[in-house]
Amino acid sequence: MQPCDIVVVGGGLAALHAAQRSAQLGLHCVALTGAAPGGLLLSIESVQGLPDRPEGIAGYDLGPMAQEAAMDAGATCLPEEATRIERHGDGWLVHGESTPVQARAIVLAMGCHLRALGLPGEQRLAGKGVSHCASCDGPLLRGRAVAVVGGGDAACQEALTLAGYAGTVHLLVRGDALRARRSWQERIAAQPKIALRLGAVVDEILGDATVSGLRLRGGETLPVPAVFVYAGLVPSSALLRAPAGEAGADDLVALEGGGHVLVDAALRASARGAFAAGTLRAGHDGQAAQAVADGIAAAEAAHRFLQSGAAADWPEAPPFTASSATSSSASATASASASTTAPTTASTTASTTAERTPS
Ligand SMILES: Cc1cc2nc3c(=O)[nH]c(=O)nc-3n(C[C@H](O)[C@H](O)[C@H](O)COP(=O)(O)OP(=O)(O)OC[C@H]3O[C@@H](n4cnc5c(N)ncnc54)[C@H](O)[C@@H]3O)c2cc1C
Repeated sequence: MQPCDIVVVGGGLAALHAAQRSAQLGLHCVALTGAAPGGLLLSIESVQGLPDRPEGIAGYDLGPMAQEAAMDAGATCLPEEATRIERHGDGWLVHGESTPVQARAIVLAMGCHLRALGLPGEQRLAGKGVSHCASCDGPLLRGRAVAVVGGGDAACQEALTLAGYAGTVHLLVRGDALRARRSWQERIAAQPKIALRLGAVVDEILGDATVSGLRLRGGETLPVPAVFVYAGLVPSSALLRAPAGEAGADDLVALEGGGHVLVDAALRASARGAFAAGTLRAGHDGQAAQAVADGIAAAEAAHRFLQSGAAADWPEAPPFTASSATSSSASATASASASTTAPTTASTTASTTAERTPS
């Protein structure tokens, strides 16, 4: 068993900033980050809305920078997935590929993953034309017609990335309007390569060895060699669920219906010593800047908890609601960059308060 003060689970901005801040506060921190640092932003060409990166920054640069900053501060980052989390005495035990990590405090920051459409052909053709990475696969599709499914910020952002390569980008939106914020909608309208199709429902992804097209509701076939799916996010909270079929077992921490971790205003989850940060927690606004703010705030709250020792206060029945958590992050201290010196104060910007609409 590898003992430490605080264990962080996740490899996105929330986790890496929690690790960095923990180490800066003098805590022995071990983070299980998964294989590549950066989380959902890893494949994004230009991450928008970070207060100190007005010009944007590539996610594949930002992730490694945040990890390096955490390690420079003294955190240990293990490039492995957590496979099991359990209570251990008055603390926590996290199992990965190597020695289990034991700590009194845990920051849960496993974020979200992209929702699958659940359509025939989708799984079979994954990686063979069904993609979640515009910046990786876009360059292979120069001059071709491609499709993007989704109508939120992420779908619009990635449709614009694809328009830099493809001949035509069919942006297929199930509803009767885009749900993305206005700035993305304006950019979509100004990009002649993007053909916006409202009320377009995909029923099947077609193709034998690779994608050849989409069957749309009503019978139309849209011939495309690739479809990019940005139709919402699902919290990565499976490890926190009670094992299926185990009678009487509870979830490790209280989750809301959709699977996000419920927290109070100090980002404390329902179980003693557990904090949740980033898009995994209920009430997060979906923005990268708030993930950074959360990571720092959770580390600071965990530090206070650890300093108080056995007497540390933990709410018996706090209002574990999304709204209380939202207000906590609005006041959380943060910098949106992966700077090596973590700030002690900052504020979330106007852009972070706007809801991110990924689907
Ligand atoms: C296409 C797209 C574009 C976006 N663009 C922007 C943008 O321009 N600006 C912006 O502000 N926001 C953007 N976002 C939103 C942004 O991605 C999130 O706000 C941010 O990534 C949240 O960070 P996080 O750390 O909470 O979670 P995530 O980024 O989801 O990171 C969670 C990490 O934890 C890891 N993990 C999960 N389970 C385990 C486990 N068991 N063990 C170890 N690690 C685990 C995951 O692999 C992942 O690395 C975009 C989102 C999408 C989908």
